[in-house]
Amino acid sequence: MDIKTKIKTTDIHIHQLAEIVGGPRAILYHKEDLIAYDCDGFTLHKHLPKAVVFPKDTEEVAKLVKYCSENNLPFLARGAGTGLSGGAIPINGEVIISLVRMKKLISVDLENRRAVVEPGFVNLKLTNSISDKGYYYAPDPSSQYCCTIGGNVAENAGGAHCLKYGVTTNHILGLEVVLPNGEIIEVGKNGILDEPGYDLLGLLTGSEGTLGIVTKITVRILKNPEGKQTVLAYFDKVEDGSKAVSDIISAGIVPAALEMMDKVAIEGVEAAAFPVGHPKDIDAVLLIEVDGIAAGIDEQINQILDVCRKCNVREVRAAKDEKERERWWANRKTGFGAMGAISPDYLVQDGVIPRSKLPEVLQRIQQISEKYGLRIANIFHAGDGNLHPLVLFDARIPGETEKALLAGSECLKVCADVGGTITGEHGVGIEKREEMRFVFNDEEIIAQTNIREVFNPDNLLNAGKLFPTPGRCVEIKKEMKEAALKA
Ligand SMILES: Cc1cc2nc3c(=O)[nH]c(=O)nc-3n(C[C@H](O)[C@H](O)[C@H](O)COP(=O)(O)OP(=O)(O)OC[C@H]3O[C@@H](n4cnc5c(N)ncnc54)[C@H](O)[C@@H]3O)c2cc1C
Repeated sequence: MDIKTKIKTTDIHIHQLAEIVGGPRAILYHKEDLIAYDCDGFTLHKHLPKAVVFPKDTEEVAKLVKYCSENNLPFLARGAGTGLSGGAIPINGEVIISLVRMKKLISVDLENRRAVVEPGFVNLKLTNSISDKGYYYAPDPSSQYCCTIGGNVAENAGGAHCLKYGVTTNHILGLEVVLPNGEIIEVGKNGILDEPGYDLLGLLTGSEGTLGIVTKITVRILKNPEGKQTVLAYFDKVEDGSKAVSDIISAGIVPAALEMMDKVAIEGVEAAAFPVGHPKDIDAVLLIEVDGIAAGIDEQINQILDVCRKCNVREVRAAKDEKERERWWANRKTGFGAMGAISPDYLVQDGVIPRSKLPEVLQRIQQISEKYGLRIANIFHAGDGNLHPLVLFDARIPGETEKALLAGSECLKVCADVGGTITGEHGVGIEKREEMRFVFNDEEIIAQTNIREVFNPDNLLNAGKLFPTPGRCVEIKKEMKEAALKA
């Protein structure tokens, strides 16, 4: 097939890129098609890509990268586009290399407890593929029904059950990566723990698609726990719920998950698709799950019930069956989207704090909410201090978007000020570039950008993400502040 006859543009690069991926069916380049790729889950900035290409294997990815690099075309990788910090937004008019066609489960090795997947393989599908054999993949972002494992590696994704089992980086044993010059390398060969040399697996995991494009991933899989049980606890005061979180951990229990939602969040989840009947007048609900050897579960649950009672819980009970447990989790895991039931728009933030600072930080977030006149819901992984303030706003009202951005940024400043940090799992992307200054000084930022330059010397791969670019970032913040003050 002569692809030139099918592609309706004179742009030579589009013809060349199409040829690499096998023809016009694996490339988008018309404006009306590109609009769907102008942002990811962070919808406040939009830019059209030059094109979106859909390679089928590592060789095609490598050829695309080589072509872009030799022709000075900016490019970036995209998985499912659920990222919440704008990492997959083509701010420089990038060629988007979409990994969604590379979605095979390559192999499962139960004996050595590992699986190998292509980057476009959807997170939840891995557990679904091995659960009948008694195994699962632990990292469980709430977006797991659609986000890709490649995207999880790039963002070092977390999830409700990461309190006990760790985040993505703790489950990655090996990566195949296409470097920004088109060379293919393997890191963590054979999935052996603690390889000699630099810890490139650790460096690449969480590098937000700025050092290379991941094309194959070896992950650790775990045996299903013998038993699990989930408890729901309602508190009249956030302080009591927060104390229960600290006291459960201090009692030596490490729950598999320890989640909290506040009053505004409860209003949202109860108005959305999976209501469970939470009382509307409580200040906080905790969802606590323990798992492990069946014989130990009851004892842990009794300890948790005791702690909650000592913390003035209004009501606490264990799930009566698997159906109820699943319903509780659906209510929690669809929590972000549920905000759409009570607000036209919302901005998700992602700070981390020491657990002991929870009551103080929630109070300061309430003050930020009052300052900007915007409601803020809190849904979070309380056990590991990973907060998700959701700033509710209406983009149709002039100035509200800017106010929401400023309120979100102030929430992160509070997290940094109490000894925490500005992202637990959603990454920095373009959203929190300037906030990196809350936790790193110039020298620390330069030490990191020096590493990026070694991998990505021409800065064609996902440029302008993850680190502040001094001039422009300051200008953007100034413009936002002026717009908010005018409104
Ligand atoms: C409703 C909702 C709930 C969420 N809940 C959670 C949660 O509980 N925990 C959590 O951690 N996150 C959560 N997220 C955020 C998001 O789902 C994760 O960051 C996820 O890891 C992104 O995967 P993706 O496939 O969508 O990646 P994308 O959004 O497509 O890309 C994200 C970044 O990864 C890079 N990238 C993608 N694929 C590759 C690759 N193969 N090689 C190199 N770089 C690549 C992109 O360039 C971009 O910078 C949630 C998002 C939504 C919308």
